[in-house]
Formats: sequence, C-alpha cells, structure tokens
Amino acid sequence: MIKYALKCSQGHEFDSWFASAASFDEQVARAQVSCPVCASPQVAKAIMAPALAHGDRIEAPSAEERARDRAALRALRHYVMGLTEDVGTRFPDEARKIAEGASEERPIRGQATREEAKALLDEGISILPLPLVPDDLN
Ligand SMILES: [Zn+2]
Repeated sequence: MIKYALKCSQGHEFDSWFASAASFDEQVARAQVSCPVCASPQVAKAIMAPALAHGDRIEAPSAEERARDRAALRALRHYVMGLTEDVGTRFPDEARKIAEGASEERPIRGQATREEAKALLDEGISILPLPLVPDDLN
C-alpha cells in the first residue's frame, strides 16, 4: 500500500491509499479517484512539503530547556556538596597539602581565585570548577 497526498482541480487536499504507484495512475486515468469534498475526478498528487530535518539547531533553547539545564546543574552541585568537605578559602592550601600527602586525602571544595586555580593546575593538582547556577546568585 502507498499513501498519496492528493489535490483536486478545485484545490481540495486529501490523502488516499493505493495498492501501488501503478494502481494510482490507473485509477486516476479511469477517473476512479474523486475528491471527497467536491467529487471532482481531476486529482493529482500534491507536492509534499519536505519534512524538516532534525539536524543542527539554530534556535535558542526554550525556557523549558533552560530550566531543565539549571535543574541538572543544581543536582550536580548538591551531589558534589554531599561528597566534599567545604574548606572555604583554604581550598588552594588544602588541595596542595592533599596532593603532597601532608593532609588526609579526601574530596574538598572551596573558593580559589582564578590565579590560585591556575597555579594548582600548573602544579599538576587536578581541580574542577563548580558551575554556579544562576538561581543561586539571587
Ligand atoms: Zn475537490
């Protein structure tokens, strides 16, 4: 079976099923296909609008998508906070001590300036920035 979008000579559009493309041609030639609105036997295949491809998105994310992203970020923050000890501004010192073995190895979080964070990374100490959720800034 094959489905065609059809259009009559009056411009009415409708869908109809046929056994095959050849069957469609044959039935139209014999005027066996008629418009359900005006009964005109002069029907032809309508030009189908191409389906839009779900490729690269160019539109901005919807409010719903942004809210979902924020919720995911908040969940991540809560998860990290549950696992880590807050050492506040002692973070660079503490991270360095842990790396040197001078302090107990444990996950920590805290504040570091951009320069402090860069220095830690330069020393080969792995740290991760924790993204701030916009709502949390309110
Ligand atoms: Zn019609």
